[in-house]
Amino acid sequence: MPVSVAIVGSGPAGFYTADALLKSGVDVRIDIIERLPTPFGLIRDGVAPDHQTTKKVSAKFERTALSDQVRYWGNVEVGRDVGLAELRRMYDAVVLCVGAPLDRPLGIPGEDKQGVLGSAAFVGWYNGHPDFRDLDPDLNTSAVAVVGVGNVAIDVARVLVKTEAEMAASDLTGYAAKAIRSAPLTDVYIFGRRGPVEAKFTNVELREMGKLENSVPQVDAAQLPDGVGDLADRDRRLKERNLATLREFAARRADEKPKRVHFRFYAAPVEILGGDRVEGLRLERTRVEKGRAVGSGEFFDIACGVVIAAIGYRADPVDGAPFDGDRQIVANTDGRVADGLYAAGWIMRGPTGVISSNRADGVAVAELVGADVPEGKKPGRVALETLLRERRVRHVDYAEWKKIEAAEAANATPPAPRRKFVTVEDMLAVLDEADERSVG
Ligand SMILES: Cc1cc2nc3c(=O)[nH]c(=O)nc-3n(C[C@H](O)[C@H](O)[C@H](O)COP(=O)(O)OP(=O)(O)OC[C@H]3O[C@@H](n4cnc5c(N)ncnc54)[C@H](O)[C@@H]3O)c2cc1C
Repeated sequence: MPVSVAIVGSGPAGFYTADALLKSGVDVRIDIIERLPTPFGLIRDGVAPDHQTTKKVSAKFERTALSDQVRYWGNVEVGRDVGLAELRRMYDAVVLCVGAPLDRPLGIPGEDKQGVLGSAAFVGWYNGHPDFRDLDPDLNTSAVAVVGVGNVAIDVARVLVKTEAEMAASDLTGYAAKAIRSAPLTDVYIFGRRGPVEAKFTNVELREMGKLENSVPQVDAAQLPDGVGDLADRDRRLKERNLATLREFAARRADEKPKRVHFRFYAAPVEILGGDRVEGLRLERTRVEKGRAVGSGEFFDIACGVVIAAIGYRADPVDGAPFDGDRQIVANTDGRVADGLYAAGWIMRGPTGVISSNRADGVAVAELVGADVPEGKKPGRVALETLLRERRVRHVDYAEWKKIEAAEAANATPPAPRRKFVTVEDMLAVLDEADERSVG
């Protein structure tokens, strides 16, 4: 009997795991279970809407989804429609690939004020994730502060300052485009607790900030060190490139363009100012000692109406799986969680790295499954199918996802690649209409 594997989550970790299992030589039947009708996790809902080339990796995942040995079960949530304990009874192996969807809080006074947002929520909103489409952020402000110096902070700043023409070939949701276009925004601040060498931006993303139509980057040359210090070769090259880019930015004039993105280093947010609504951010100047930011006791304020924390993500504990509260991941040893239970991707090792960083996790889990489960003993798919039918769960298979995808493409105004549906109901309505047409 083939080994039955349930993969929970259809993001990069889920698909790399499926791909590695297919290539492992083990006779497997894989079911990929996804809570949304739409596959691909953060490739659809995290990766910036104007970075369509990055999203093309999903074409590779599609080949995996279309394998005879793989079935996609969209719109099925583990914990809602089927329990983890049930899955473990039905499948020889269950692999958790559910990501880390929650925002890490800033942990400073004033965080409950209106206008304080996390990047998971804000990015989810502009990307049309059904969980966040009602966020409705009030962008009626001339200044936004983004806390964090990684690519997500840059994505957020860029999407806020790009022009309509620059976003034309993106899949930014219509409501977000409208809200951003009508915002009186002139200044976006990106704050880092540590210095430019410690910042996590990749150079391509950083450089892009110098090429925008309506916005100019601003950097204080006094914050740029002469060199990057003692680093391994690969790191050193990246950091040197970033420093060179930031030096170019430091030479740019503030009045070159109507909008500015200010990179401010050595500044730790300590309090969000204002009444019910955000009116500003108080920061403490820092210096870096042994790689850590140390407060100087000197404070400064900036006026802003929105604060977006882009300081990382944390996992949502999965009912029935042990959780490591310190690391905010499912407790595991190199991907092994318990007998027949595994994890890969952000839920396994925390929210770092790029899409391809999840590939090694998938390969490692496939090896574990191959070693632990030489032959299949559990029914897998037929049991899941029966259970979902009994519970009347309306699942979406891959062919149905392709219909949703085709409708999104048909609804778009070129050069936009798609106009996303942002509610599960609207996605399912496409399928119901297609059913009615085929009956009629
Ligand atoms: C804002 C942002 C932008 C990024 N941009 C880039 C970029 O430009 N380039 C790049 O290389 N990397 C980028 N990354 C990183 C990349 O997206 C991640 O490395 C990758 O998505 C992590 O994969 P994952 O499968 O672990 O998690 P995810 O991609 O989050 O996938 C998890 C999946 O599990 C599903 N799920 C969750 N709970 C359940 C449940 N209970 N039942 C069923 N399904 C469930 C979710 O709906 C989701 O589809 C970005 C990340 C973020 C946050």
